[in-house]
Amino acid sequence: NKRVYLFREGDKSMRDLLGGKGANLAEMSNIGLPVPPGFTITTEVCTEYYASGKKLPAGLMEEIETALKDVEKDQGKTLGDPNNPLLLSVRSGAKFSMPGMMDTVLNLGLNDQVAEGMIAKGADPRFVYDSYRRLIMMLSDVAFGDRYEGISKHDFEHQFYDLKAELGVKEDLEVSADKLKELCERYKAYVQSKGVTFPQDAREQMKEAVEAVFRSWNNERAIIYRRREKIDDAIGTAVNIQAMVFGNMGDDCGTGVAFTRNASTGDKEVFGEYLMNAQGEDVVAGVRTPLDLNELKLQNPIIYNEFVNFCNVLEHHYKDMQDIEFTIERNKLFILQCRSGKRTGTAAVKTAVDMVHECLITKEEAIARVNPDLLNQVLLPVIAPGTKYDVIAKGLPAGPGAATGVAVFDANRAAEMGKGGQGQRVILVRADTSPDDLAGMLAAQGVLTERGGMTSHAALVARGFGIPTVAGCSSIRVDAEKRQFTIGDVTIKEGDYISLNGGLGEVIHGQVPVEDAKMTGDFGTFMGWADEFRKMGVRANADSPADVRKAIELGAEGVGLTRTEHMFFEGDRRPVVVSMILDIDNPETRAAKLGELLEFQREDFKGIFEALEGRPATIRLIDPPLHEFLPNLTELTAEVAVDKAAGKSDAAKETMLRAAESMHEINPMLGLRGVRLSIVYPEIVAMQVRAILEGAASVIKAGGKAVPEIMIPLVGHVNELTTIKADLEKTAKAVEAEQGVSIPYSFGTMIEVPRGALTADEIAVEAEFFSFGTNDLTQMTFGFSRDDSDKFLKPYVERKILPGDPFESIDRKGVGQLMQIAIDKAKKVRPNIKLGICGEHGGDPSSVQFCYEIGLDYVSCSPFRVPIARLAAAQAAL
Ligand code: ADP
Ligand code: MG
Ligand code: MG
Repeated sequence: NKRVYLFREGDKSMRDLLGGKGANLAEMSNIGLPVPPGFTITTEVCTEYYASGKKLPAGLMEEIETALKDVEKDQGKTLGDPNNPLLLSVRSGAKFSMPGMMDTVLNLGLNDQVAEGMIAKGADPRFVYDSYRRLIMMLSDVAFGDRYEGISKHDFEHQFYDLKAELGVKEDLEVSADKLKELCERYKAYVQSKGVTFPQDAREQMKEAVEAVFRSWNNERAIIYRRREKIDDAIGTAVNIQAMVFGNMGDDCGTGVAFTRNASTGDKEVFGEYLMNAQGEDVVAGVRTPLDLNELKLQNPIIYNEFVNFCNVLEHHYKDMQDIEFTIERNKLFILQCRSGKRTGTAAVKTAVDMVHECLITKEEAIARVNPDLLNQVLLPVIAPGTKYDVIAKGLPAGPGAATGVAVFDANRAAEMGKGGQGQRVILVRADTSPDDLAGMLAAQGVLTERGGMTSHAALVARGFGIPTVAGCSSIRVDAEKRQFTIGDVTIKEGDYISLNGGLGEVIHGQVPVEDAKMTGDFGTFMGWADEFRKMGVRANADSPADVRKAIELGAEGVGLTRTEHMFFEGDRRPVVVSMILDIDNPETRAAKLGELLEFQREDFKGIFEALEGRPATIRLIDPPLHEFLPNLTELTAEVAVDKAAGKSDAAKETMLRAAESMHEINPMLGLRGVRLSIVYPEIVAMQVRAILEGAASVIKAGGKAVPEIMIPLVGHVNELTTIKADLEKTAKAVEAEQGVSIPYSFGTMIEVPRGALTADEIAVEAEFFSFGTNDLTQMTFGFSRDDSDKFLKPYVERKILPGDPFESIDRKGVGQLMQIAIDKAKKVRPNIKLGICGEHGGDPSSVQFCYEIGLDYVSCSPFRVPIARLAAAQAAL
């Protein structure tokens, strides 16, 4: 197998083998863009490297030598030759872009002798030692940092800071050649003190760098990133070895990053940043705050125009927005990377719509291209309009959206405090973020940095994940040690509330109310196209008229699940429900209390039907065990014990305790709930059916339309359904007679017990529709308690015992098979049975795809996921 490809031997279709960066470097070379020559070591070698216990395969170095000869010839320079040295970059690059997650080494080939040689031939000593100090730092950090205790990039940076402090200067550029040379000596002494001699041999440097890039595939941040992005751990990274071009040779040199369109808004404008007399990492690592590319237009219009022209070439070639890295060496422009640009949901939708209008892509391509999960961000929260707030600082609008939370100055603590999105709301505040901060960023509501630009890795990650971010906010002083930041005389300490308005780069004192955004014109157009291709229906889970209205605004075609018990928890109903439960075996109390509840529920349903304006609503009869409406047993027991010890007694509390004790179940999810509860206390559901149909009747009588689909949960045996349905039909008929209207109601069931799925042919005789309750179905199929599964599912997924969390994405093989069996059997007895899904999976794009494949009529999800489900359903049908 060929292991090394020269750029001219590859092309953009070879991402699997060459990685995205390598494939695109090859493609760009071949279409004539100025790319420094080089070659790519394939991703297969990475796999071999790991398979053989981290050893480079035999023969690889020889293949590299051959390719290197080619580059040397092209450049007229030789690696390691002090009189005419070739310098190289060694760059990571997997199939899917993982910005900043893996390692890169620049200026490879420099050593003491080569440095002297370059200067003897006339190179600027400052440039030479600037490059050399970078090499020592990068190579030591990536190649030795993980093997030798105590070598860290941080230490190198600190030594540079110290040197600058000794010299009394601030900027890197103020440090002289001699001092940089001294810094190189300090660096070498530092690594020596940790047990490594910095390799002087260029080939040894190259071998170390290649291995380091392979190892960086499995560094912590890369692993976290892949997990989050669901990138396969097995695919590995390629290594690109490329001739260096230098942005740090002087003031006619520079380096930068640009997007062919605005990555935040999607606007059609080249948008980027650069630094003169700098090397790549300076811009992307966010160490120096770069200049806006529009400055380059003034500084050097010829280069600027050439660059804009390349942007157009690349956009037309790839038919997508590109993220481009470039370097200017002595007024000559080089392109070092291009990839499809990461963008916000808003920008994704806008660029897709614009590119259709520009005839660059088709509507199908536009629909296929936008990741449904990104749509979340289109509806990203904004500060409630009309709110007055106190802007204390302004930075760059690196990630849109509004966020409120307490300031936290350490990524680990932010990760700890904001865990799983359910923890505290935190805003991570850093001087600059490194990719190591990833876990903390993901757990935070928002991110604020003192340094770094719009194209810093922090900003890329923030936009990709929809984290509101203000970057490069140079008026604040972050003091991580003291856990505070200051702006003028304002000090914000850890735990103080701040807010961010990411879209405008505003930092705000205190908390602000945030609310959901409205849909924009492009979003409407885009979703309209999605609906043209979509064949499966999309409904929403909604329990109140307000939810229903929100869902319809977002495109829902009906309600797929109303949880009637949610209404029992509200305001004045709770006491009624509790007093009914406390005396549940007394028929008179039961009747009286149910009479009160009927009044409430009738209004609830009427409101829902009105909001639906004739669209159907699947309404589920009471599902949870009754003790869920009572106070917590353990707490009650403790309270009564405390009272007793204090010599007090509270009769009401004791009654409550007795009731809670008598209803206590060891395993409530498998206990007296769902259809079982209805069979034991049929009056509750009879009341609910009456309320549903009376609510429907009043809407119909007022000239409207109401389509109630009454759903009975947790059926595992057809007799359960037959028994309860007979009762409920009587109630339904009675209501129709009393009200003098005919109501187009139907009875169906949830399929959420495995036995129900397996005997669907019997159940479908009674049920006019099925809705797959995949939360319970997953719980019962795996035997995983959904409420306790955190503890083991995380390690299961980490150790790849399961490919993913089955509560997030349907387990097709097991749970999916039960669904398929149920559908096949049901259709035999009722060919036109209506089929839907109402578990959380209804809003998960991959599960939506599956639901389409097995022929469901609709999916139902929470109102906010409706656009996601619509898009996922359209993509499934393409
Ligand atoms: P990442 O995947 O982290 O973006 P890259 O491989 O793109 O890493 O390298 C980081 C930076 O190093 C780039 O932004 C680029 O500016 C610089 N760089 C890489 N290769 C070269 C090269 N051949 N000449 C000059 N600079 C380079
Ligand atoms: Mg890059
Ligand atoms: Mg259920």
